[in-house]
Amino acid sequence: MAQTSVESVREPATTTQDDVSAARRDDRRHVLHSWSSYANLQPVVVTGGQGAWFHDEEGRRWLDFSSQLVNVNVGHQHPKLVAAIQAQAAKLCTIAPYHANEATSEAACLIAEVAPGDLNRVFFTNGGAEAVENAIRMARLHTGRHKVLTAYRSYHGATAGALTASGDPRRWASEPGISGIVRFWGPYPYRSAFHSADAAQECERALAHLRDTIMAEGAQNIAAILLESVVGANGILVPPDGYLQGVRRLCDAHGIVMIADEVMVGFGRCGEWFAVDHWGIVPDLITFAKGVNSGYVPLGGVIISDAVAASFATRAYPGGLTYAGHPLACAAAVACIGIYREENLIDRARRLGTDVIGPALEAMKARHPSVGDVRGLGAFWAIELVRNRATREPLVPFNASAGADAAMTEFATACKRRGLWPFVAGNRLHIAPPLVIDEQDLRDGLTIIDEALAVADRHCSG
Ligand code: PLP
Repeated sequence: MAQTSVESVREPATTTQDDVSAARRDDRRHVLHSWSSYANLQPVVVTGGQGAWFHDEEGRRWLDFSSQLVNVNVGHQHPKLVAAIQAQAAKLCTIAPYHANEATSEAACLIAEVAPGDLNRVFFTNGGAEAVENAIRMARLHTGRHKVLTAYRSYHGATAGALTASGDPRRWASEPGISGIVRFWGPYPYRSAFHSADAAQECERALAHLRDTIMAEGAQNIAAILLESVVGANGILVPPDGYLQGVRRLCDAHGIVMIADEVMVGFGRCGEWFAVDHWGIVPDLITFAKGVNSGYVPLGGVIISDAVAASFATRAYPGGLTYAGHPLACAAAVACIGIYREENLIDRARRLGTDVIGPALEAMKARHPSVGDVRGLGAFWAIELVRNRATREPLVPFNASAGADAAMTEFATACKRRGLWPFVAGNRLHIAPPLVIDEQDLRDGLTIIDEALAVADRHCSG
């Protein structure tokens, strides 16, 4: 199956059998990496990092334009976050989830504080997929209904339910999945499923399509609409103004739980605490992970509205995890939220988008025939590459297999040769640096991309 992350574009290592490190040797012998075949993967052996940079055992330094998997929002090895984990480790490493402890309670309190509206209660998980699984379970129990509507262009995680809910082709190998998932098309002005002429028309038509889908499935059967507030891995698709408000109205009209999956965009990535804040939307459930503690210790969860939470006031919630609310992970969340506040990183993300990334990408679009579209919000952007601007034929086909994605591999390799670690997905480069990135480093990284685009331009016919 095609890769949708950077693994697909790594260059082969040049080391011989004699000079491989123990880390590389043991990795090759014993580790099966995510979404990869072990015979083909040659991972970089990372030895450390600082801020927006990380380095490997061969002494190379990489400017991280991916924040790994869009999680290291406060950068690598932030001293305050490292210290908080160390302090918590000295105090209480782990405890069963039926006990309360200071770190978990404080993390829940802070998360509720930054969440919109009356989302006041947190169910903790170990990551994003489990958050989605539990949000679906909560919605079904709360409504007594079964169906869940999700978008084709989406990724919600790799466990059975979350992967079925994903539209992403990564679900194909695990089908048939759970029952009750119904998919719809969300807005995507550049490649409209509705033949729209502009963003306003795309919004109107995407909402009409969702309304029709609800009608055909029977509103009384639908527990939830699950959608990414800004679609991440499937394209960095910022919804047109009015779309999320329209989804909220449809949910209200039919008693459907609105689940905003903010695993990738929550906690500042888009220049607000949560991406829904851009449109003043209060979902019933928000799923989160990644940015909550920058991924220093695995953590995710569901933030629950008072109304949904009330369903579990006296009825036991039928779900749980041994490591739910893990003290080390929660202490990291407390420290991370503190860092966002102290360093003003949410505003900084917004400003980096409007002042630096957005204008630089628009300039690249004007210069390079391979750039079909640029879009994004805060510190979360995509450059969509095409062979022909008029036809919008993508630089590599949808879900291209190894070999068929050669043009993107070449482009990514050109970035890497210049010391930039890119996030490549399909025919797009995603730009998601740590929110702490030095402004000059950000500009230098964008210059590297600009230079590397010459490689993509060579594949253009129009
Ligand atoms: N939801 C979204 C929007 C994601 O982007 C991801 C992962 O990238 C997930 C859920 C799954 O999160 P995890 O990999 O932590 O299970």
